[in-house]
Amino acid sequence: AFDIAALGRWVALFRDRVSDEQERLTALDSAIGDADHGANMARGTAAAVAKLESATPTTVGEFGKAVGMALVSTVGGASGPLYGTFFLRFGASGGDGAELDGPALAAALRAGLEGVVSRGKAEPGDKTMIDAMTPAVDAFEAGASDLVSAARSAARAARAGSDATEPLVARKGRASYLGERSAGHLDPGSVSTALLFEALAAAAE
Ligand code: ADP
Ligand code: MG
Ligand code: MG
Repeated sequence: AFDIAALGRWVALFRDRVSDEQERLTALDSAIGDADHGANMARGTAAAVAKLESATPTTVGEFGKAVGMALVSTVGGASGPLYGTFFLRFGASGGDGAELDGPALAAALRAGLEGVVSRGKAEPGDKTMIDAMTPAVDAFEAGASDLVSAARSAARAARAGSDATEPLVARKGRASYLGERSAGHLDPGSVSTALLFEALAAAAE
């Protein structure tokens, strides 16, 4: 099962992956956005790790609140409220529990995704983080009885979903202002979501 320590490892590994890929995220956002996605995610994930160190949550709900609020309050861009909502809803799903087994983790990830959808109103194919998050959560759910292998297939599905954003025309967020010119580039938020699920798989090992 995923306990509070494993959840903390997930966020720390996400911060590490974002920090390794910060320049790439920024380059992607400079092609179809405003060139701040790398900096936004680096700042937000560093603040989330710092908040977990100071707040020392003991329940999944407290964990989600700490991470979600850190992201919302430190990231100015669209991605802050969206990832923040993901973690707030993730935490609310886990509630007073101190750990999540595979099916409970699947439910928390599903709740997080639904939060992002209700906040951002994007649909699959709109060239957003949803295009990586939706197949990842579907894949996790399908294999949830084995948490480690579910997390691995979720990471692969997230990456494939992100790769599939390249030819799409953006219909949500800043990139949608470019219309047809947004095609031919990966969506930066889908790439950071692939990192989120790769970090989850690494934390589950
Ligand atoms: P900003 O666009 O405000 O500069 P970021 O660059 O940090 O914010 O994040 C951009 C990413 O946010 C996009 O690549 C996309 O994946 C995601 N995004 C933007 N709008 C939405 C939305 N309405 N729903 C889901 N994801 C979105
Ligand atoms: Mg941006
Ligand atoms: Mg911005």
